[in-house]
Amino acid sequence: MGKLDVAILRYLTAEDFRVLTAVEMGMKNHELVPGSLVASIANLRHGGVHKLMKELCKHRLLTYERGKHYDGYRLTNAGYDYLALKALTNRKVIASFGNQIGVGKESNIYTVADEDRNPLCLKLHRLGRTCFRNVKDKRDYHAHRNRASWLYLSRISATKEFAYMKALHDRGFPVPRPIDFNRHCVVMELVQGGPLTHVTSVPDPEALYDELMNLIVRLGNCGVIHGDFNEFNIMLDDEGRPIIIDFPQMVSTNHPNAELYFDRDVKCVREFFKKRFAYESDLYPKFEDLERDDEMDAEIACSGYKRIKMIDDELLQEMGIGLQVSDDEESQPECDEATEEERKAANYNEEDLAALRKQVEESILNDEKKLEIEKLNA
Ligand code: ADP
Ligand code: MG
Repeated sequence: MGKLDVAILRYLTAEDFRVLTAVEMGMKNHELVPGSLVASIANLRHGGVHKLMKELCKHRLLTYERGKHYDGYRLTNAGYDYLALKALTNRKVIASFGNQIGVGKESNIYTVADEDRNPLCLKLHRLGRTCFRNVKDKRDYHAHRNRASWLYLSRISATKEFAYMKALHDRGFPVPRPIDFNRHCVVMELVQGGPLTHVTSVPDPEALYDELMNLIVRLGNCGVIHGDFNEFNIMLDDEGRPIIIDFPQMVSTNHPNAELYFDRDVKCVREFFKKRFAYESDLYPKFEDLERDDEMDAEIACSGYKRIKMIDDELLQEMGIGLQVSDDEESQPECDEATEEERKAANYNEEDLAALRKQVEESILNDEKKLEIEKLNA
């Protein structure tokens, strides 16, 4: 953790990128991806994939592991970071890397800059990290399963965050301007300021309190609840205006527990203002007061977030996770079909190969796609 090893971005080639993408795609249905599978879906004209994989292992972007029934490759954290950062660099969204400025519960935050040296914020989602610790003594099948899942969960979290940030920004909510995302990484405007939790006093607590409560209501009227509306996810910019961040956990006001989440967000603000600014008010919003005037929740469900979700739905269902992510060991499902899964890995057929090859090509095309920033922020 900590510093990103970005030097690697310069000396790895397009062929390396292709091999890593092939392993990434292979990991959708294999715990460990057999080298022969990587070789056949990477679709490199001149071959030599095994040599490339060996080099990628040296750089710790891949690991080669012995499984119970077959051996194969696995993408590491660093390998996944590399894929996303390389794609964002190729798209010219980011051109240089700065310091780590935050470690959240499930993310690492860095400053980066574009080609014109404008500072930006890069958020790397790291879900499911805590799972690995707990699975050491379990069967290796189980361990691999968890290790493969972080990749999907982190990607879904980032995709969801970007979709919400974009929808909120489009509606004029005070959120960082979303710039682009790739895999588990989101690039956004860097807020000049700090989280509310670092603020010891404000000129007008009542005005800020009202503004925050109004935001909760405006969100609710759009059909969404932030779900983690606290002093760590509310920033104050240099002019003292609140900027809301951190959206992967947002839920629809149609969620069965919506009222509970709504009340919890309201309570967070009330308690913080009481503790920090000695400010209390009898006025606070209630769930039943919401007047729906927008369908942001439905819009998000139709966006790219859903496309990603569909691709990985089967896997998520298999893991019994759905979209509510938990790192609680007890909630991890038991998987007994290890031999079945492994047989699948050993005997992939032509049809599987063709599908995977297509996914590799599509992924690489998408990663090379020039970003239409103007269009994104229109
Ligand atoms: P997590 O989901 O891990 O809680 P957050 O999105 O809340 O991650 O970010 C963690 C911290 O990083 C924040 O409390 C804030 O200090 C900093 N941060 C996040 N986004 C930005 C941003 N756009 N500009 C500046 N700082 C940010
Ligand atoms: Mg946070």
